[in-house]
Amino acid sequence: MQIEVIGTSGAFAPGPNVSMIIWPQKKRQNGILFDCGFSVFPELLRRGLLSSIDTVVLSHAHQDHCGSAVTLAEYRDQIDNRKIAAGGIDWRPLLTLCDGDAGSERVRLLPADFPLQTFAVPHVAGMECLALFYNHKFLYSGDTSVSLLDTPQAAEADLIIHDAALCGNPFHCGLKKLAEAPEEIKAKTWVTHYHPKDLEDYKKLCKEYGLGGVLQPGMIFSLS
Ligand SMILES: [Zn+2]
Ligand SMILES: [Zn+2]
Repeated sequence: MQIEVIGTSGAFAPGPNVSMIIWPQKKRQNGILFDCGFSVFPELLRRGLLSSIDTVVLSHAHQDHCGSAVTLAEYRDQIDNRKIAAGGIDWRPLLTLCDGDAGSERVRLLPADFPLQTFAVPHVAGMECLALFYNHKFLYSGDTSVSLLDTPQAAEADLIIHDAALCGNPFHCGLKKLAEAPEEIKAKTWVTHYHPKDLEDYKKLCKEYGLGGVLQPGMIFSLS
């Protein structure tokens, strides 16, 4: 499978929000989109990828992670006549809010054998926030205030994409926290959720801490 990075920006930064597509067959079809913030739909449109997304999994309901998910679901249902499979957090409040009674008709459930494991992470009180672990190979942290590099999923994963702030705060884990992980875990960890103006600072610290690197839009990872 391949993982293509669509965006890496947090809530108030320019550029597409944190999101990535898993291509299970390495071809650009049957894509599984992890997170779909407010600037992701226009980016998928620009790249001609809207109709290649069959599944959307959301980590939490902050707008930089889910803000255009319902628009994508509407597009696939109304324009392509094909419903996306919706996973991760409970979509029903979003669908009802954005689409009334028609909302729940727009999407289908993830197939029972879909190889996704989710687990709760601390981020914002009172909101369902999940980390996403796909096919025992790829771990995406969503937004978390703690490092997930000490979890069994991190040990098992071939690739980890983890959000991190330059300095930790009550809502986001700091880069320095990630630096506490064992070398082999850090080496497969790529950091995301930043403002492009901070890219060079992120690169410097990732190198210093032995992390895999800073995620950038357009990057493609191949996993066997
Ligand atoms: Zn965020
Ligand atoms: Zn968030």
